[in-house]
Amino acid sequence: MSLSGKCLCESITYTIEGEARDVINCHCSRCRRHTGHFMAATGVDAQQLAVSGEDELRWYATADVEYGFCGNCGSTLFWRTSRRPGYVSIAAGTLTPPTDLKTIATIYTNYASDYHSFDEAIPSHPEGRPDA
Ligand SMILES: [Zn+2]
Ligand SMILES: [Zn+2]
Repeated sequence: MSLSGKCLCESITYTIEGEARDVINCHCSRCRRHTGHFMAATGVDAQQLAVSGEDELRWYATADVEYGFCGNCGSTLFWRTSRRPGYVSIAAGTLTPPTDLKTIATIYTNYASDYHSFDEAIPSHPEGRPDA
């Protein structure tokens, strides 16, 4: 199955070749602020991802992480880290359903805001996990 997605204004569209990782929810303070809540992301090797409308794509760098978003509508689309070169995470809500993905983990839960209620069915990693 080949997945595709787009930002809200549809300036940026993308397709994914092959398998995408299941979804991980990241509650770290950077993802919390960038998304306004938390980052729910799938991930692929960068060469699996083909983006069109890239002239609207902006990257915001903070320490070892970069967030990719649409410069026109502001949609959160991607993130990547220098800790894992060649890998890109993709905001799962921008994928066009059905995705056939499931949520497998929630990470950096120690940094979630106090209003948030966690789904206890999803394995949680208070300080992150090594492969995410
Ligand atoms: Zn857009
Ligand atoms: Zn995060």
